[in-house]
Amino acid sequence: MNYADVLFKEDLKICLHFGDAAEEFSGAAVPPIYQNSLFVYSKHEELAEAVKNELNYYVYWRGTNPTVEVLEKKLAALERGEDCKCFASGMAAITAAILASIKSGEHVLCVSHIYTSTLDLLKYLQKFNIQHSVVYSTNIEKIEQSIQKNTKLIILESPTSLTFELINLKSLAELAQSYGIRTMIDNTWGTPIFQKPLTLGFDIVVHSASKYLGGHSDVVGGALITSHKIMMELFPKEFLLMGGIMGPHEASLLLRSIRTLPFRMKEHEKNAYEVATFLENHPNVTVVNYPGLATHPHYELGKTQQTGNSGLLSFVLKDETYEAAKAVINAFKFIQIGVSWGSFESLVTSPNYGHNEGSLLKEKISPGLIRLSVGLELISEIIEDLDQALSVIS
Ligand SMILES: *Cc1c(COP(=O)(O)O)cnc(C)c1O
Repeated sequence: MNYADVLFKEDLKICLHFGDAAEEFSGAAVPPIYQNSLFVYSKHEELAEAVKNELNYYVYWRGTNPTVEVLEKKLAALERGEDCKCFASGMAAITAAILASIKSGEHVLCVSHIYTSTLDLLKYLQKFNIQHSVVYSTNIEKIEQSIQKNTKLIILESPTSLTFELINLKSLAELAQSYGIRTMIDNTWGTPIFQKPLTLGFDIVVHSASKYLGGHSDVVGGALITSHKIMMELFPKEFLLMGGIMGPHEASLLLRSIRTLPFRMKEHEKNAYEVATFLENHPNVTVVNYPGLATHPHYELGKTQQTGNSGLLSFVLKDETYEAAKAVINAFKFIQIGVSWGSFESLVTSPNYGHNEGSLLKEKISPGLIRLSVGLELISEIIEDLDQALSVIS
């Protein structure tokens, strides 16, 4: 049995059973939804003790809720991290991670393409004199050259957003450690099933649970996994004070989704590989950005730091215009047009809405780039739809 198989088995056990023993919930087969905003105590001294440590005691739902806590334990275990807190959205988790790691006058270095709203958040934070810059390279030496004296946080995604390049996570973490810089990775694409950045030296992992962790297009949420030390600093401030918390109903939906996460990820991977191979051989497509393809420039690196590749990819049309991208996107029959990704259903979109083409060009994103989230439908139907949509252009 190889390493990936061992991990898969360990993770499956966590997804199915870890942290939700029925005896802890009056024999309930799955954790019930704790729909209570507060917890009462028989003595005020007991409440006083609990208030001192709301991370570990139930006081008020804004701090810790038993249903959400089960999810937090599972996610921490899956990422091999010490602590996890769940948030109202991926952006709430990202906001907490950034604000906990940086102060006025300091600098955040972003490595290559990151989620657009994360970059927009950093632009917003300029009004508090929090600086940032982006190094559009995955090369460790180039990244090192972009570190400034006041850099305190490095943010990245691997694969990078939209372009799906990989960054050597172990080397990046070592580099940052040698400069005393904190590292944060958005691991939404890989999910903890395929990539565990904390084990490679990263300090903070964030997730949009709205994607694969949810997987059914019916929940928005976020998660932050880190060491106990960082969580002890972050919890009373960026979590408890800012209050961007997850509710128990969302946590219950996510607990249900996570039970099938390992199997869903394997199916997404299988379908995406077929789609990428089909696109690679299509005459109307020039580039396929999918790290699971043996022809991808970072394929070998991927094998050293991932145990799989998920289902989101992009490709560039031979006709690199917004007109061509629109024509293809509009021609899909059962694959639907929409934002978000990581669910059971295939979804297609372009980051290019016409009015933002200038800024995309500056980031070297082709106007003819199409992003496809490969779902769990029959692969023959997905390919058939792709084939007919690509045939509307030449
Ligand atoms: C969607 C997404 C986010 C934001 O998550 P929300 O749950 O929508 O707030 C962050 N990072 C990545 C990579 C995403 O795709």
